[in-house]
Amino acid sequence: MRLDVVSLAPEAFAPLRGLGVIGRAFAAGRAELHLHNPRDYATDRYRKVDDEPYGGGAGMVLKPEPVFAAVEAIPVLPRRRVLLMSPQGQPLRQADLRRWAGGYDQLVFLCGHYEGFDERIRSLADEEVSIGDFVLTGGELPAMTIINGVVRLLPGTVGTEACLEEESHSALLLEHPHYTRPASFRGLEVPAVLRSGDHGAIARWRAEQQEQRTRERRPDLYARWQSQQAED
Ligand code: SAM
Repeated sequence: MRLDVVSLAPEAFAPLRGLGVIGRAFAAGRAELHLHNPRDYATDRYRKVDDEPYGGGAGMVLKPEPVFAAVEAIPVLPRRRVLLMSPQGQPLRQADLRRWAGGYDQLVFLCGHYEGFDERIRSLADEEVSIGDFVLTGGELPAMTIINGVVRLLPGTVGTEACLEEESHSALLLEHPHYTRPASFRGLEVPAVLRSGDHGAIARWRAEQQEQRTRERRPDLYARWQSQQAED
């Protein structure tokens, strides 16, 4: 998969290449990262990428010309999606990561800065994505979050398909608890059922734990899961 990032801080993406399985996916060529700085496309002598907002107000706004020029210089693959990072976008979900990982050959990320984008830049995007109801200084961490989540879903990145199917948010229930050795640690015991060797009992315990955790921690997801069960 080809990943193109339009950002005023392309150096922020360097750690991705050293990031465990994600870094190895880049090294193996499963994903390619291309960085584009709008400043390289600014035409005035100061390479200006921001300006004051019409109508006044606090902060500076990303100018349209350098961002349009940067995006237009990117090669276009047939199945491509342009994602604009914005706290005003649709909240990111695991289903989005699956949709992008499975349905596209190229993702383009538009990272904002300052007060945000000149509104016309939004016309370049297929989707606006928020990573949560809070505001960061730039779109780099949101873009890296999405890149991490998408690249780990590409075939061959994570050990087994089962790891991806069983985890939280692959369906509506959160994942069950995990334990490893030692069986007893500072008075905290591993549940006996997990050491019983009874695979049926273990599966039942895990299913119960998934329901209980989701009900306690995420009643919103639990309610959706219950209505899905009622429909099936
Ligand atoms: N003034 C904007 C507003 O109120 O909607 C916020 C601009 S924010 C300081 C600068 C940039 O950071 C945004 O254009 C966006 O690219 C990125 N950003 C900040 N928070 C984000 C979030 N929760 N999700 C996605 N991108 C975000």
